[in-house]
Amino acid sequence: MGNYVSDLFGSLVFNDSIMKERLPKETYKAMMKATQEGRRLDSSVANVVANAMKDWAIEKGATHFTHWFQPMTGITAEKHDSFISPIDGGRVIMEFSGKELVKGESDASSFPSGGLRSTFEARGYTAWDPTSYAFIKDRTLYIPTAFCSYTGEALDKKTPLLRSMEAINKQTMRVLKLFGNEDVTAVRTTVGPEQEYFLIDRELYNRRKDLIYTGRTLFGAKPPKGQELDDHYFGTLKPRVAAFMAELDEELWKLGVLVKTEHNEAAPAQHELAPIFTTTNISTDHNQLTMDLMQKIAKKHGMVCLLHEKPFAGVSGSGKHNNWSISTNTGVNLFEPGETPYENAQFLLFLVAVIKAVDDYQDLLRISVASAGNDHRLGASEAPPAVVSMFLGDELNEILESIESDTAYTAKEHVQMKIGVHVLPRFPKDTTDRNRTSPFAFTGNKFEFRMLGSADSIACANIMLNTAVAESLRQFADELEGADDFNTSLHNLIKRTIKAHKRILFNGNGYDDAWIAEAEKRGLLNLKTTPDCLPYYVHEKNLELFKTHKIYTETEVRSRCEIMLANYSMIINIEGLTMVDMVKKDILPAVSAYLKTLAETGLAKKNFCPGIDLSYEETLVSKLSSLCGKVFAQVADLEEKLQKATDVPKGTNLAFYYKDVVLPVMSELRANVDEMETMTDAKYWPYPSYGELLFGVN
Ligand code: ADP
Ligand code: MG
Repeated sequence: MGNYVSDLFGSLVFNDSIMKERLPKETYKAMMKATQEGRRLDSSVANVVANAMKDWAIEKGATHFTHWFQPMTGITAEKHDSFISPIDGGRVIMEFSGKELVKGESDASSFPSGGLRSTFEARGYTAWDPTSYAFIKDRTLYIPTAFCSYTGEALDKKTPLLRSMEAINKQTMRVLKLFGNEDVTAVRTTVGPEQEYFLIDRELYNRRKDLIYTGRTLFGAKPPKGQELDDHYFGTLKPRVAAFMAELDEELWKLGVLVKTEHNEAAPAQHELAPIFTTTNISTDHNQLTMDLMQKIAKKHGMVCLLHEKPFAGVSGSGKHNNWSISTNTGVNLFEPGETPYENAQFLLFLVAVIKAVDDYQDLLRISVASAGNDHRLGASEAPPAVVSMFLGDELNEILESIESDTAYTAKEHVQMKIGVHVLPRFPKDTTDRNRTSPFAFTGNKFEFRMLGSADSIACANIMLNTAVAESLRQFADELEGADDFNTSLHNLIKRTIKAHKRILFNGNGYDDAWIAEAEKRGLLNLKTTPDCLPYYVHEKNLELFKTHKIYTETEVRSRCEIMLANYSMIINIEGLTMVDMVKKDILPAVSAYLKTLAETGLAKKNFCPGIDLSYEETLVSKLSSLCGKVFAQVADLEEKLQKATDVPKGTNLAFYYKDVVLPVMSELRANVDEMETMTDAKYWPYPSYGELLFGVN
């Protein structure tokens, strides 16, 4: 089995070892240089690489190739071309040129661009990203690409991600030089995203319009049993789930995805997959592949994989934990506390750079995880709150306090922590990782950003994180490069940064209401929903940040903001319309039919035996009728409000309209419908219940 897995692993990836094996030495070298330095390949080299890629792909059964890209819809897109090229005699040969590898044209008028392109010039192009390996899926050679407009604006999530990796590389290198790290020539941010998801039975799914149209249940009374017993968390896998996971692991391994652990999560029917970390760019691609394969493979096993952040009310939603660090090309993790005082000084500087970044750009981090779906999670006392704060653990906190106030650090025999003089103690993993309620936690040698939604691409969160930290480092490097006495300046800088940004540090329970009040007192932002946070995207300080580090132009930021707002409004509109449809066509008719049965039974009983106790029928008929009346009125109200949305100006106004006007009606309607469900004969209720959905996979 061990050999089996190692033979399987990466077998469908045109990776480093395949390139080494199949490319002429000079081409391989040029290729490596291009990937490491993010440079372009010249066309003669590209032709050789393309040809080798094609031969390899054909041997593996591929007939087509595609430029695979990540438009702002959040999912991936592809357009397949076959390798065939006609020759004399009505025959074909298989061809693939360097030009086809490097650049593709795409009529992309239907992808969201936020007004970046008018439709008459709707062409975009895709450009090969040699820092992520090509691979084979469904008999097609997939070439990871970035997607831009003809005038060079980014139309995707990969372009700004690569830009942000370059920005943090540049600034980190400046800082590393100051510490004398001569052997390091580049750094990369690394990410390991833990992915949560639900698996439910496919037959049951097919009977729920809400799941089909919106990915979440819009109605559903609480089942007698939820997750209160904690008997699902890390529990034994059901056979169907185990078979699904085994196939998923194999398919992902073939694609070189380092899947490491799969286990049950807190809610019934909820699971988690964690890969081993790799560079942010590859990790982002791999997470997209993972989500894609989860959905496909679940279907093969008679199930549906729900990636929505809140498929069920009353049980935990799903998120994604973005474990993040910076690693040098010499293999050093910059968030690993070192062995010598000097290494520790460097560690502390990078640590305070992140503290400053998270504090200065709380708004951008919040925006990076904003979506209609994730709004149901953040702050719902099961996921991190919408307030961004940072957890360092008691030990590290104490060290920072001692540095800030020049007082003794108690754990170290009353030693005053002096930067560049003392060695930091080791931080045992369990003391740092215990706080599960923190949005942004230091976990020993990496940071875990926990606010991401399960359905989202991880690109956006990492763009913001990389850029914000690049900015801290830029300021630090500016200051330290000009310093007369490096050690004193370093000490003062760290001390000053702790003082200025310690308000973002919080070690307590993030679910606690008292914390939210305290956070507001500290001046931290509490941007509860997507419409609340999105206006911050275009604040001057943020536009300035993106400009300084060449991540987005102002036009690009505005277009992204517009897309996110439009998306939010469209999602709630679809949910509202789905509710109307379900209530009018299925729920009210079903309850009405049940009422008829009840009333007829009551009448029959009365005729048969005058004076008989009719309290059951009477009470139920009366309660259900009155609920029907309320629901009937509410659904009319909802319909009217959805209709009126067409008069509201698009953008921020419309998003707030959906949040403040439409969502409250939807939730009142739901409450009444759920109450009806608890009183209606299950045979009449038109949809599978929460109990069936959550406990239906065996
Ligand atoms: P924990 O128990 O704290 O969740 P794990 O060791 O299980 O820690 O790791 C969780 C995730 O963090 C995994 O995906 C892992 O690959 C990732 N991870 C570990 N180290 C790093 C790092 N240096 N950079 C990015 N991700 C990392
Ligand atoms: Mg974790």
